[in-house]
Amino acid sequence: MHKLITQQGSCGQHLITTSIICKDELIFDFSTAQKLDHSTYQTIQINAHQHIIEDSLFLYLNHSCNPNVFVDTVSLSIYALFDIAPQQELTFFYPATEWQMAEPFMCHCGAENCLGLIAGAAALSIHQLNRYKINPHILKMAIENSSQQS
Ligand SMILES: [Zn+2]
Repeated sequence: MHKLITQQGSCGQHLITTSIICKDELIFDFSTAQKLDHSTYQTIQINAHQHIIEDSLFLYLNHSCNPNVFVDTVSLSIYALFDIAPQQELTFFYPATEWQMAEPFMCHCGAENCLGLIAGAAALSIHQLNRYKINPHILKMAIENSSQQS
């Protein structure tokens, strides 16, 4: 298991790795986490009706529009999308798991393609979602949503 630490940044806590993490490497297994039927600011959505409570270090896994880890809601694990160097912050793309977020916020990740207001996948177009790796439940809801609108 990798050594992960939290660090106080200008806008809250960050989750930092102290060792190199290679692309596709398993970082965390959350298969035993408690499940809820509603979302809160500290849950991760795993399907249309269920959310898991994240009360470990991964509570500090922040959003980025240019993420370096993926929260996989099928295998219930977190793995690296790219090689991640020591002292880098781990980030994931919240709309990859969240359809509608309990607490939307303005993103200041600094990525060239920053989406601004992050409110969950429901607020994004299929075109925007297509640029990211997203989970099957989000893809399914996005397709259902767009067919209802047209
Ligand atoms: Zn952003």
